[in-house]
Amino acid sequence: MVWQSSTRRARLPRNWARLRARVLRRDNYQCQERFSTGEMCAAPATDVDHIAPGDDHSMANLRALCAWCHRQKSSSEGGHAAALTRVCTERPKQTHPALEG
Ligand SMILES: [Zn+2]
Repeated sequence: MVWQSSTRRARLPRNWARLRARVLRRDNYQCQERFSTGEMCAAPATDVDHIAPGDDHSMANLRALCAWCHRQKSSSEGGHAAALTRVCTERPKQTHPALEG
């Protein structure tokens, strides 16, 4: 399996497996993602996510997520820079005033 975030994976602490299990148990093995509607996902959690990406492996910065929510989050983090450049090249479509009415 090829991971594009291999450098980030390599930075996981030695006790990651134990930490991960502790987070899943704390969160009752339920996905902690909260949708914009205010509802919890609460699907069975299989992944542990860093709330703030980086090297903070404290319990406060970790939460249980289901695979789906984790993938959504990871892909939006990875695609952020690309999305920013894309915004600049896309221009809103405008109708020439002379062509209206
Ligand atoms: Zn979820």
